[in-house]
Amino acid sequence: MNNLSIQELKELVPLQAVLYHYGHTDLPERNGKYFTCLFPENHARGDQDPSCNFYTGSDGFPRYKCFSCGENGDQFSFVERQEGVNVSEAKKIVARIGGITEGGTYTAPQKQLKRPVKPEEKKPVQFPSDLNRGTETDWKALGELRHLDPQAVNLATELGVLKFGTHRGFPCWIVTDQSRIVAEARRLDGKLFPHSGKKCDTLRNSKKSWPVGIQPRHRTPENFQKIILVEGSADLIAAYHFNHVFLKMDALPVAMLGRQCKNIHPDALPLFKGRYVRIMPHADEDGGGMEAAERWAEQIGEAGAKSVRGFDFSGLTRKDGKTVSDLNDCTVIRPEDESELEGLLR
Ligand SMILES: [Zn+2]
Repeated sequence: MNNLSIQELKELVPLQAVLYHYGHTDLPERNGKYFTCLFPENHARGDQDPSCNFYTGSDGFPRYKCFSCGENGDQFSFVERQEGVNVSEAKKIVARIGGITEGGTYTAPQKQLKRPVKPEEKKPVQFPSDLNRGTETDWKALGELRHLDPQAVNLATELGVLKFGTHRGFPCWIVTDQSRIVAEARRLDGKLFPHSGKKCDTLRNSKKSWPVGIQPRHRTPENFQKIILVEGSADLIAAYHFNHVFLKMDALPVAMLGRQCKNIHPDALPLFKGRYVRIMPHADEDGGGMEAAERWAEQIGEAGAKSVRGFDFSGLTRKDGKTVSDLNDCTVIRPEDESELEGLLR
């Protein structure tokens, strides 16, 4: 690890560069102009009137402060918050963001950070202005709609993976995570979006290659030794349901938002390192779900996962006699298949 001091790191890797790395790409250049809070989850209805600002700290380097929720810090406290790590870990991450390698060698990261990015690449996801954690009524409604335990819904909310808000004029449930790189909405009444005729709508500027849920709002996300990788937002919340039902507290549900995303976002791949990954693709008739899963498995394996296993839903039957084709179907599985499912999910 490099042996640079906090001050030297601040000099080499400015606060702005770190925030930029986390997707906050539209911030003011210097102190003076208010921007929306870096921690929208602190605000019940999002930070509607921008209340965050930069100021110069006593060490002469910039800091951020939100006058509404009180968050206040520098690049290190931001990373600590964002990644749930301690300060020495945050130092390493900041160094890495700045392209500083071992021994403190500085390898000109500025060029890379300031590289002009295509406009659609640098914009953060556009969340609804009334983004919120939902009320008990919302959690119950979603539970009923998708046959889920409201407690599991609540857990997903706690971890910042599930949010609520108005999208295209409809009350929606929205999956996302602390990376803010991707977000997808579905209507709370289960109906289609009229503009597309589809059930899901990805929020503007989302990058669907991001495995949503992999950066939960959690102090020590690395404590989740296992990852359950599913396909789509419905299965993501269903995975929370089964974690809750089978009391599996060490498995983190993560979803790729669609089988057409063949490549996992390069910034997300290192997060699979050292973890046990279980992939649960959709059992589509054309085999497309499986095909995508094989591709993901390959990339996750190369990224250094401890193990990558598959999962096959075929052979399980729903209460209504139809074949189970995804994890969400398993919430309405016929009673005689329940113990088999429990065994499979362990
Ligand atoms: Zn705030």
